[in-house]
Amino acid sequence: MEHQQNDAALLEEAGAIIRNGGLVAFPTETVYGLGGDAMNPSASQKIYAAKGRPSDNPLIVHIWDYSQLEEIAAELPPEAKKLSDAFWPGPMTLIVPKNDKIPYETTGGLDTVAVRMPSHEVAREFIRVSGCMIAAPSANTSGRPSPTTADHVWQDLNGKIDAIIDGGAVDIGLESTIVDISEDVPTILRPGYITKAMLEEVVGEVRIDPGIISENEHVRPKAPGMRYKHYAPKGDLTIINGAQDNVVAYINEASAKAVAEGKTVGIIATEETEALYRTGEVLTIGSRDDEDSIAHNLYGILRSFDALGVEIIYSESFSTPRIGQAIMNRLFKAAGHHMIDV
Ligand code: AMP
Ligand code: MG
Repeated sequence: MEHQQNDAALLEEAGAIIRNGGLVAFPTETVYGLGGDAMNPSASQKIYAAKGRPSDNPLIVHIWDYSQLEEIAAELPPEAKKLSDAFWPGPMTLIVPKNDKIPYETTGGLDTVAVRMPSHEVAREFIRVSGCMIAAPSANTSGRPSPTTADHVWQDLNGKIDAIIDGGAVDIGLESTIVDISEDVPTILRPGYITKAMLEEVVGEVRIDPGIISENEHVRPKAPGMRYKHYAPKGDLTIINGAQDNVVAYINEASAKAVAEGKTVGIIATEETEALYRTGEVLTIGSRDDEDSIAHNLYGILRSFDALGVEIIYSESFSTPRIGQAIMNRLFKAAGHHMIDV
């Protein structure tokens, strides 16, 4: 496998790998994707194998032009055009009824297909020169945090895929918002950078899949990927929620106690609080004044704690106004829903 720079010739080469049924990891504005030809059942099977992902968990088909959505959808509800005009290219995935062109291997056996037009210039150019639509889930080993740098991809998939296009660190750092428009009311199946309020400005009423916000494990999320046990760090992660002074005091006390018991501790801090913690490995996720910075750094921080091998992790809570729901959705899963209010 080569660690590639992206110039035109290398994108051509990567496109040829896709046309020949191989796998290429590539940068997008959300996270790195692991791409294969969406029309080639064996390429999709290879993606599942490389990730160690269950084959009933469907892939997102990446396109660079709206006509490609029309090419693979059985029918398009009016919301398709409205939402794509508003948010494509960008971090939104649409679920639509599929036609026969898309193999069931790509959709995990479903009669709907997930489609996204990324805005990352390298991704768009890569899809275009490949001449294919590119099926791609996140380019991580199943059960690990999604990759936000080419190095993360390398850590997980070195030797299992044909190439990595290195586009540096991604912009957003969390996976796309998934919006199901195959039923009556558009429904968010996975929160992301594009929020419910942003969608509602364009199409009116939008629902949130009860399965992704319910604490009740019997309410099943509609997106298969949201049902699986998700990434859990090696260390035992707890979110501490409350006013800043209370949170800092709680984490300092709990960390001191854990260290006294001989445990190693990691703390997810912000620029506003990093100087206030007195013990443990303190990693700064970003600034509370810049919620995008928190989204951008979340997965990288979780990987860092795994590399450091800390046994106990305390994190502040990040219910920020806009992207907070998407951040907390990922953080809650990583913490096994373990949050303490102080
Ligand atoms: P990833 O690209 O790794 O973020 O995974 C793609 C996500 O999209 C997973 O959570 C899938 O379950 C979800 N997904 C893909 N296709 C569909 C579909 N047709 N219906 C519902 N969810 C889907
Ligand atoms: Mg994923």
